Amino acid sequence: MTFNELQIIDPILKAIELANYNTPTPVQTETIPLILDGKDILASAQTGTGKTAAFAIPILQKIYQNRDQQALRKIKALILTPTRELANQISENFTRYSRFLNLKNTAIYGGVHQRKQESILYKGVDVLIATPGRLLDLMNQNIIHLNQVEYLVIDEADMMFDMGFIKDVNKIIESVPKNKQTLLFSATISKEIEHLAKNILLNPIRIEIAPEVITLDVITQSLYLISKKQKTALLIELIKTENITSVIVFMRTKHSCNRVVQELVKAEIKAEAIHSNKSQAHRERALLNFKKGRLTVLVATDIAARGLDIKALDVVVNYDLPETPETYIHRIGRTGRAGLSGRALSFCSYEEKSLLRTIEKQIDQKLNIVDHPFSNEELTAKFIDKPKQKKSNQQRANKLVLNKPKNGSSPNKQKSHTASDKSTYKPKSNNAYSNTTTSNKNSKSAWQKSSKNKPTYNQKVYNKSNNNQTSYEEKITLVNIKSS
Ligand code: AMP
Repeated sequence: MTFNELQIIDPILKAIELANYNTPTPVQTETIPLILDGKDILASAQTGTGKTAAFAIPILQKIYQNRDQQALRKIKALILTPTRELANQISENFTRYSRFLNLKNTAIYGGVHQRKQESILYKGVDVLIATPGRLLDLMNQNIIHLNQVEYLVIDEADMMFDMGFIKDVNKIIESVPKNKQTLLFSATISKEIEHLAKNILLNPIRIEIAPEVITLDVITQSLYLISKKQKTALLIELIKTENITSVIVFMRTKHSCNRVVQELVKAEIKAEAIHSNKSQAHRERALLNFKKGRLTVLVATDIAARGLDIKALDVVVNYDLPETPETYIHRIGRTGRAGLSGRALSFCSYEEKSLLRTIEKQIDQKLNIVDHPFSNEELTAKFIDKPKQKKSNQQRANKLVLNKPKNGSSPNKQKSHTASDKSTYKPKSNNAYSNTTTSNKNSKSAWQKSSKNKPTYNQKVYNKSNNNQTSYEEKITLVNIKSS
């Protein structure tokens, strides 16, 4: 499939060519024709799949084809997104694809003075990309009117829920004309998202792009057992001795991000933090510096790092183990992309032992414990699982008596039942994420299962890895890192 075959108009094709996109990604192949055809869409697609272009290109095309050159610019498309970074990223995308269309877009978000945004809005824009809070603010001040909106996109809908924005989103939707085309994008489709979709979409087509398959085999996962208070010292040691020049360090809290950055800077390592308490200007500068290789370490919370267009890395560090194994896989999937190898270093204190065990269970492998300058035998010993002691004959006999079923069936029978249960257990493949993907693919969504009184949805399920993605995959560039 080529962009040409997707019936995209020449000025956009020219812009796509300049962006060096050779082939449409699966989400683009599927959604562009449907959006051009006026359909509402519910798509589960994560950042990194090319989903922004999947909605930006057809929206621009439709606005361009229906434009009235004499009329003043009015907001024809509204894109709602949860964070400032995503708003800027989406705006950059719209600008890239509309360079030959004479259509204008702008991004508005909180945390910065509204005056500059106001003056751009007064001049008129065709596409508005907004975070909900600032948009409502400007609507309440009568600076923004949404009565001409024909296309509404809700991007990263699950994150809108996570960040508590959904009430604002609903208020905004009420101010947009009923007769519009609505596109809902979410990394995951939870019950809440299904409910939202049911309320705001009209006969939608459901598209499911499986998350990028993360091949754990190519990622060397190492475990550093370390006390909480020595983690920063270990980080500094590793960066210095292993010549790490570009690494994302994932942390659980904003406060600890700041503390670690201070320590790194004291040790003369260029580091910045990104999290939601940092100013917009700071976050943008930090991200740019990191992408350009002017910063060695980007210390980030999961929320702040989510959705950021940072290409594959050689090394990621889990300074704190994440609360869920999925987050672990997502974090380490930042490395080892495009067929290249990568390293994920996890720092684990005794308090995090149960999180470690959950992760190991999910990926079906034990992480490799690495010896390091702060290794502590006592701590290591606490992580080594003691082999189960063989029970004495007397103990076994006692157990059999205790377990003897009331109905008189023999304890031996019970025993053999357990044994046969065990023999049917099949170990998971090494690639836990690809397992998840397959099961997504095969299992019916909750929506389908309980679709009694619901409108019909056409569901398409795609696995990114199953498509011919060579040129797209090849485009993924490595950012400026070389580990020793
Ligand atoms: P997104 O999922 O929209 O955040 O896009 C992720 C990255 O993929 C961005 O850097 C896009 O510029 C890039 N991208 C989007 N579509 C294509 C394509 N068809 N070919 C190559 N790169 C693309």
